Amino acid sequence: MVVGGGITGWGIAWILCQRGVSVTVVERDGVAAHASGMAAGVLNPLDGENIPGPLQPLALEGYRRHLEWWPRLRDETGVDVQGRVVPLLRVAFGDEVETLDGMDAMDGTAGFSRSRVSPSEILGLEPSISDRVAGGVVVEGIGSLDSYLLTVALSRAAQKMGARYVQDTVIGLERSEGVAAGVTLSQQTLACQAVVLAMGPWSSHAEAWLEHAVPLYPLKGDLLRMTTEQPAADIIIYHSAGLLSRKLDGLLWAGTTNEEAGFDAQPWESSREQIVEGALRVVPALRDARVVRHTSCLRPQTSDGLPIVGQALGWENVFMATGAGHKGILVAPSMAMAAADLVTRGRTDMPIDGFGAERFAGSN
Ligand SMILES: Cc1cc2nc3c(=O)[nH]c(=O)nc-3n(C[C@H](O)[C@H](O)[C@H](O)COP(=O)(O)OP(=O)(O)OC[C@H]3O[C@@H](n4cnc5c(N)ncnc54)[C@H](O)[C@@H]3O)c2cc1C
Repeated sequence: MVVGGGITGWGIAWILCQRGVSVTVVERDGVAAHASGMAAGVLNPLDGENIPGPLQPLALEGYRRHLEWWPRLRDETGVDVQGRVVPLLRVAFGDEVETLDGMDAMDGTAGFSRSRVSPSEILGLEPSISDRVAGGVVVEGIGSLDSYLLTVALSRAAQKMGARYVQDTVIGLERSEGVAAGVTLSQQTLACQAVVLAMGPWSSHAEAWLEHAVPLYPLKGDLLRMTTEQPAADIIIYHSAGLLSRKLDGLLWAGTTNEEAGFDAQPWESSREQIVEGALRVVPALRDARVVRHTSCLRPQTSDGLPIVGQALGWENVFMATGAGHKGILVAPSMAMAAADLVTRGRTDMPIDGFGAERFAGSN
């Protein structure tokens, strides 16, 4: 039984189906209805919270598996997840240029390269960037995809292999002698042999079922999709207030914000203004852009910025796979593999040491 039909839940379901396991996915709101369907879809295993650091091995493993998943999913489902490898340009204005120092250092990670670029080189790459730019770094090898399409493809691939999809809300676990014998839905209980909780930021609601801390909180992020000719270069642009990414849907995606606002996932006008202001500083020509879609969704964020992957404490057959925050699309394949391994083999080679719920024991 997999609870949650985001990228993590459907990734786990697909892998379990490949191993001959009979899988049911229970999802409350619809396939990819939350963050997995509205993420920016940037796969950057070189920078971010805990990268370089303890998250990087899982991130690199996730990146490598993405490259394997895309053609396989296209063959199995006909869905093109619009996955590709593109350069990322980090730009700096004024004093921000000091933050680039050392960022061009090669970290020896195979398949990637970084180089420092001057203002004139930046304008050569993308002439619409403001001529006030003070410097930048180009990173080659970053992934980009449409996370909605990827999650849909995973759900189709899993269902083609026999996974059952139940649209309902899980409200508890039925416990019998230290194991979960079933999951309780609004009208019925479904019997099971193992449960994986992949409920995104709502995984914290499982605290009451598991009787231990699952200290996750929702971190709200807004994203704008715009029609505009510029910037035209096929480069993901990162700046101090967010990112600009030309997608294969022809739109420019601009984001993102980070707000702690509970489970409120309504798009905010203030977030829109913040994203537009940041984007205009980088590409002044965006004043003519038209926003055609404004989305908002919730990242599953833990206090230490690391995911929770492992066995639920005191439950033999309940596992958790959640909490990957800003990197949830990137690490989904490796996190899903780890969870599937724990269900079928009781152990995994995925680099999840230290990511168990036991690190929070006693915190509630
Ligand atoms: C603006 C924004 C941009 C982002 N960009 C990137 C990016 O570029 N790269 C990257 O790697 N990551 C990115 N992320 C992060 C990424 O989107 C998330 O970490 C990831 O989607 C989490 O996936 P998930 O499957 O764990 O959770 P979710 O997608 O939230 O799915 C969890 C599902 O569980 C269901 N559920 C919850 N409770 C229950 C219940 N009781 N019963 C049944 N179902 C339940 C929910 O309805 C939901 O569909 C971004 C996030 C945001 C907000």
